[in-house]
Amino acid sequence: MNKKLSYLKVFFLCSVLLTVMFTGCIEEEQELGGLIETFFPEVQLDQPSILPDWKDGDYHEYYRTTGLVNEFQIKYPDLVNLFSIGKSVLNKDIWCIRITNENSNQAKYSCLINGVIHGCEWEAGDACLYLAEYLLINFGKNESITNILNTTEIYIVPLLNPDGRQVDDRFNGNGVDLNRNFDIDFGRFRGGCLRIGTVFGKKVFTYREFPRLHKRFPSFPRFLLNCGRRPFSEPETQALRKLIYEIEKHDLSFFLDCHTAVHSLSTPWHAFKPPFEMIDHEKRIFSYAREWVAENTEYEDAELSYKGEGYKASGSATDWCFKEFRVPSFSFEILSQDYEPGAGGGRHDSLVHWMKTTLPVFMYMLVNIEKLHNWESPDIQPPLPEGVPPPPLK
Ligand SMILES: [Zn+2]
Repeated sequence: MNKKLSYLKVFFLCSVLLTVMFTGCIEEEQELGGLIETFFPEVQLDQPSILPDWKDGDYHEYYRTTGLVNEFQIKYPDLVNLFSIGKSVLNKDIWCIRITNENSNQAKYSCLINGVIHGCEWEAGDACLYLAEYLLINFGKNESITNILNTTEIYIVPLLNPDGRQVDDRFNGNGVDLNRNFDIDFGRFRGGCLRIGTVFGKKVFTYREFPRLHKRFPSFPRFLLNCGRRPFSEPETQALRKLIYEIEKHDLSFFLDCHTAVHSLSTPWHAFKPPFEMIDHEKRIFSYAREWVAENTEYEDAELSYKGEGYKASGSATDWCFKEFRVPSFSFEILSQDYEPGAGGGRHDSLVHWMKTTLPVFMYMLVNIEKLHNWESPDIQPPLPEGVPPPPLK
């Protein structure tokens, strides 16, 4: 009888205790809910995206780039991680910003967008910064951009060749063309390359044109460039290689290398006999992406702009990235050849116009990242802000 009574007592006490705890939780939750609403008003994700407030002439050389990427990190600490991937020949930091919503625990794909591997191609770096700013100012306001940053890690290297950028020169501090220095079909004479590098640490040769010889003997390259003594001889290409290997561990899904000024999107492979086999399915996906760009942006399909001749370049970053990781890799040539007819010495104006022309291409890649990762047809249309793409310049 006594035993029964004590069981009842224990049961009664437990019930009272649980009721008190439960009521407390509800009250606490109600209080917390009120606090959350006060400090974090409901996020409106239905706003149309807005464009960065840039002015024509607002170019970013090394020091302005350094200032802007630091500003991004201070202003958006939950979205931006800034770090140096290495130093250039003349000891400048090569900056990388990783843009993603650090508070999102969703599985993420990664991609790398690179600019100014050629120092004279200013707009390639500005396009990287413009994209970064466009994503950052619209996060938490525009639904598709918020989704992108919740599910993607975007690595952006705006200035791979800071030394070349400072003196408006295609080559790096050793006089080497960095986009001929990757370990893919390296140093071929017919690919326009001479394996020179430096002599006793001194810059001795950058490039020379041979228009008459090329006209008489079309297999003779139109110009010859210094590709370095051996693959990855340069600190800048070593830094990019290290970064790509690191990103590859986090599901690298595409690589996009920005240049000027051929006005097109190109894909591997361009030089002679490929040192790898590209299967028909990969060719189809590449051709789908190039055709989409030709139909929906102001840029052309490079296969058409090079008129089937191909772009005879050994040792390029895009080809190497495809060979090494088998991910969709692209060269995006901003501007047009009216702006930059040869290697460097081009016009730099209408910056805002050219920046707007790049957004459809970047956004197309970003909304299709999962499809590109799986080698499926990238058929999702990117939502774009008003006025993008802009009408072509007259
Ligand atoms: Zn280039």
